[in-house]
Amino acid sequence: MALLDILTVPDVRLQKIARPVQEVDDSIRALVDDMFDTMYDAPGIGLAATQINVHKRIVVMDLSEDKSEPIVLINPELVAQDGEKTMQEGCLSIPGVFEDITRAAVVTVRALGRDGAEFEREADGLLAACIQHEMDHLDGKLFLDYLTPLKRSRIVKKMEKQQRNAR
Ligand code: ZN
Repeated sequence: MALLDILTVPDVRLQKIARPVQEVDDSIRALVDDMFDTMYDAPGIGLAATQINVHKRIVVMDLSEDKSEPIVLINPELVAQDGEKTMQEGCLSIPGVFEDITRAAVVTVRALGRDGAEFEREADGLLAACIQHEMDHLDGKLFLDYLTPLKRSRIVKKMEKQQRNAR
């Protein structure tokens, strides 16, 4: 088990665009396992590789209470989306901040799993929001990008202050 450091705002490495995984091999599976350890330890319900400074298109999620529903998305793509829904979101890279974000209500994602096999899954509710949130990370986007510039700069200042105080 390995716990990885999670980048936090305003770290510019969170803005990097991740590259597709060429092959789901043992090194990718080891990374996925470390990402789950890191996410469960945080604790969080989703983690993108970008957040641990690995710029590969990998997301792990688990919305269950008891770590029983791990989901791995490698090279995820949204193949369908429908409707709109606003939900409160948080992010391990923006600790202590929760904001209402509007996203598609229902999505279908196509991805490779931990075994390298392609699958499709339709999701709604929290899972749909989580999939879109984590996929944004792979494109260097944060939920802050959906807020007004004023709100965003207030949050970034708050984060900078927290980090200064933590030092
Ligand atoms: Zn996040």
